[in-house]
Amino acid sequence: MKPINVAIDGPSGAGKSTIARAASEKLGYVYVDTGALYRTVALNVLRNGVSDKDVPAVIKTLENLSVKLGFVDGAQHVYLNGEDVSSLIRTPEVSMAASTTSAIPEVRKFLFNLQREIAQENNCIMDGRDIGTVVLPDAQVKIFLTASPEKRAERRCKELIEKGIETTFEEVLKDVIERDYNDSHREIAPLKATEESIIVDTSDIDLQQSIDLIIKTIQENI
Ligand code: C5P
Repeated sequence: MKPINVAIDGPSGAGKSTIARAASEKLGYVYVDTGALYRTVALNVLRNGVSDKDVPAVIKTLENLSVKLGFVDGAQHVYLNGEDVSSLIRTPEVSMAASTTSAIPEVRKFLFNLQREIAQENNCIMDGRDIGTVVLPDAQVKIFLTASPEKRAERRCKELIEKGIETTFEEVLKDVIERDYNDSHREIAPLKATEESIIVDTSDIDLQQSIDLIIKTIQENI
């Protein structure tokens, strides 16, 4: 039987990963955070001392690079050449480098099969920017999850501070706006809703209400 695939796309900080993870747990699906894959490629670029804007050099870092996903107690872990880098990829520096390098077609191609294979083998909720448009165009449910830039920056700022990463609301808001611009204006796989996407705006609802709404939306549409 064909697995159930749910695509959740949206801008950074809309709550995609928290909401998708909770919904996956409830429904017994595998949760795939594709942003972690782009972040891992970006971390490798930074570790190699390469500028994220130097396209040929970024492409060169893909040679002999291994990016793998694993699941430990249901939680996704990402491995860079065998090393678990799941927490190392969460810094603002990696976020920005991921946003820049993900606009390179070779980077997207490098990660494409990995994403497709997981979806072909598992009932899953996959979140990202181009899941409904490019990676899983046949997904049974496509959700576009969004919220105002200020609300998203507020949430992300709280998250980073809780993780001990020093930042300010203004700094995070600037990053959110810049990444939104990059992600939706790039030539390849820009962030956008499809015609059949169900748009969910979480600006004025709390996390639990967002989770309940997404679960209900999935159940009603599969
Ligand atoms: O979702 P997250 O913020 O972790 O993603 C990091 C960056 O990776 C995004 O800003 C975006 O540029 C890129 N990305 C992408 N396509 C995806 C997932 C993430 O281009 N499917």
